[in-house]
Amino acid sequence: MRLTSPLPAAVRVYEVSPRDGLQNESAVVSTEHKAELIARLVASGLRDIEVTSFVRARWIPQLSDAAELVAMLPAHDDVNYWGLVPNPVGLERALEARMRGVGTVLSASETHNKKNLNRTVRESLAGLEELIPVAKDEGMRVRSYISTVFGCPYEGDVAPEATLALAERLLVAGCDEIVLGDTVGMANPVQVQAMVQLLLDHGVRLDQLAVHFHDTRGTALANALAALQCGITTFDASVGGLGGCPYAPGAAGNLASEDLVHMFEAMGVRTGVDLDRLAEAGHFAERVLGRELSGRFHQFHAGSARRAQTRTA
Ligand code: MG
Repeated sequence: MRLTSPLPAAVRVYEVSPRDGLQNESAVVSTEHKAELIARLVASGLRDIEVTSFVRARWIPQLSDAAELVAMLPAHDDVNYWGLVPNPVGLERALEARMRGVGTVLSASETHNKKNLNRTVRESLAGLEELIPVAKDEGMRVRSYISTVFGCPYEGDVAPEATLALAERLLVAGCDEIVLGDTVGMANPVQVQAMVQLLLDHGVRLDQLAVHFHDTRGTALANALAALQCGITTFDASVGGLGGCPYAPGAAGNLASEDLVHMFEAMGVRTGVDLDRLAEAGHFAERVLGRELSGRFHQFHAGSARRAQTRTA
């Protein structure tokens, strides 16, 4: 494996909590609370935030307020709000909401794709090969998630070549960024580096790649470091570790944004994010949801605050 030396000086943290996090919560969070969470995430310095999905309300009731939410978000020239679009109707709604960036989803494994999207991989890919050029013609940026890249909860191992073939087709269709999704937290660092290397060997550029790790088995930070060492500079993360995947048994916990920011900043890799403000956004999310979040830095920060309170009491 060819490792990048020195490490990238700066990375881009792509925040997924308002979409990937909240869609997996049983509670439906009010549109006002979502808007406030997003405003706090922006205030922490995050510049790419996936705010919702333009999916049919009956599929994911938690995100049925997509258009209203987007209309409430403060406009910042340097902030990119992103929305998932599952199909042409979703893209139409994203266009009406004046989204500038959209995300698409399909899986590298057949069974997960079928359970998640109710289509074969081939059908999903054909749909995206029609949808992506339309989004590009409208001037949107498009990032395409490939789920189950590092393992499938139903099928087990997934061939890296399956991901390569999908990535090549999606890039030819015009997508700007391929997101390598470790949907159920099965990846290990060696596997991450081998996957990235395979893509680079076939002409995919580092700036066309992002990684989306889950901490289901405690390997998300190790995988993020492995990706960084390959020269990857876009990392998905979710404040407090909010979220998982409702169609993947045992998939709990996106990589927590605070954990990622803390580790990278400590290593001298700039994220542009103020860790204290990010941690406060995590506490806000926790208060709104009424449950403790799993992120390690989040828990450490909450514990420090409690201890400080005890001392002053
Ligand atoms: Mg996720």
